Amino acid sequence: MAYPPSLTEAQKQYLHSSLTDYALAHGLVVRPADSLAPTNPSNTLATAAPVTLFPSLFPREAWMEARDVQEMYNELYVRVSRDEKWLGEVMESLKGVDEFMERLWAMHLKLRASGFAQSLSLGLFRSDYLLHQAEGDEEVSIKQVEFNTVSSSFGALSTRVSDLHRHLFSIGAFPSSPALNMDALPANPALDELAAGLAAAHEAYLAQQRKQKKNNVVILFVVQPGERNAFDQRWLEYTLLKTHSTPVLRHTLAELHSLAHISPSTSVLTIPHPSGTTVEVSTVYFRAGYAPTDFPTQTEWDAREMLERSMAIKCPTLITHLAGAKKVQQRLAEPNQLEYFFPSSYSNLISRLRRTFTALYPMDAHSQPGKLGRHLALQNPEKYVLKPQREGGGNNIYRTKIPTFLNSLPSDAHFDAYILMELIEPPAARNTIVRGGELLEGGVVGELGVYGVALWDAAENEGGLRVNREAGWLLRTKGVESEEGGVAAGYGCVDSVCLV
Ligand code: ADP
Ligand code: MG
Ligand code: MG
Repeated sequence: MAYPPSLTEAQKQYLHSSLTDYALAHGLVVRPADSLAPTNPSNTLATAAPVTLFPSLFPREAWMEARDVQEMYNELYVRVSRDEKWLGEVMESLKGVDEFMERLWAMHLKLRASGFAQSLSLGLFRSDYLLHQAEGDEEVSIKQVEFNTVSSSFGALSTRVSDLHRHLFSIGAFPSSPALNMDALPANPALDELAAGLAAAHEAYLAQQRKQKKNNVVILFVVQPGERNAFDQRWLEYTLLKTHSTPVLRHTLAELHSLAHISPSTSVLTIPHPSGTTVEVSTVYFRAGYAPTDFPTQTEWDAREMLERSMAIKCPTLITHLAGAKKVQQRLAEPNQLEYFFPSSYSNLISRLRRTFTALYPMDAHSQPGKLGRHLALQNPEKYVLKPQREGGGNNIYRTKIPTFLNSLPSDAHFDAYILMELIEPPAARNTIVRGGELLEGGVVGELGVYGVALWDAAENEGGLRVNREAGWLLRTKGVESEEGGVAAGYGCVDSVCLV
């Protein structure tokens, strides 16, 4: 089957203009890059977010499996977050070679020594996959790229792109194709589910504090200055207000350093409201603080520490943020680690999780797997990607660039800051990426992300999981020639699934 169907020039124009106007009218937008809008008076300009012209074909069974294992993945990362000793050993291995991780972990340990004010914890997670087809095999399966525990973005825009493609189908903007029908284009609940997760934390806080639902308790979004993907976050804010009557305020870490106050006696976090009142913060949702560049000065570090110390529920706490390290993913793929975290009654689910793993190697000189990792990275790098403990895209080193990169490090002790991962090579498809008003047609690869919501009580060892849900999905598509697929980092675009 030829997919996507070909377009006449007139069809292409109708599809492109219908898509653009729908995106602009429905807030499927980002702030423009400076190059696109050199003058942007009072930040009044927005531009259609990069999306695909057609929804991309995606095997229904693989999509179902990724969604089915999400609750199990949520539970795994909740269990990792609770196991300070296990996580501490992983963090120990990054000491002296990854200053950022070391500093976050030190902050966790320092605050832990004086005891945490809040034991409830919220995770808005996203597990990312590429499709994998073994040679000579008909079946395609999902292989995990990474698991995100902090700032998992694009939930709102991904809901909007599913709506967009359903709309374009409804108005007949797609030429007919056997693949394209309404059953193949599922509505994506990510926006509502993620907002419901934040609302659940807010409600839990109010119940804990024996407070009525009031306007003087808010959810705080911690954001980066000049964030271009602000509307993805704004949609969560608007949904929280409309569906859950829960107000939101947004601030950067630097702003919070001077605005936020923490009560010495109760650890309650308060911030001023622009109306002149003071409001209490139930939940701190981090869409910043995952990259070293989010902490240009001590001010931002101090603000992060104050937020962590407070009574507000954090999404995520420092320990859950660190549980999303690539090093944790690598360690979890070692033999018997899943068995360590789950009781034996989970054996069936454990094998389903393990089926999503691809080969991962440590890079230390002291273990057998580490020696193998070093050998592959230096002698045989063509099939591998080298990853530091960073988030946000654009940080990995690919294939033959790996040895030169490693040899440029100050010493081979610094290899330990990385993990080596086998490259997943998904089947290429065709689509058209619509970006900055241009249509770029060619070979593409899609990365499926599945969102998860977990709310748990860290003070309880078992049974403290209050909410555990699969929360919709994201399909991000990039040109085959690009190694990275991050939308915000400028490599890819938001897509939706056409299930086959
Ligand atoms: P980040 O936390 O910065 O998003 P990722 O692990 O997701 O880091 O890597 C960024 C991108 O690199 C992915 O979106 C994907 O396009 C590519 N990538 C990462 N790991 C692999 C892999 N094992 N095989 C193929 N591509 C990969
Ligand atoms: Mg990530
Ligand atoms: Mg990623």
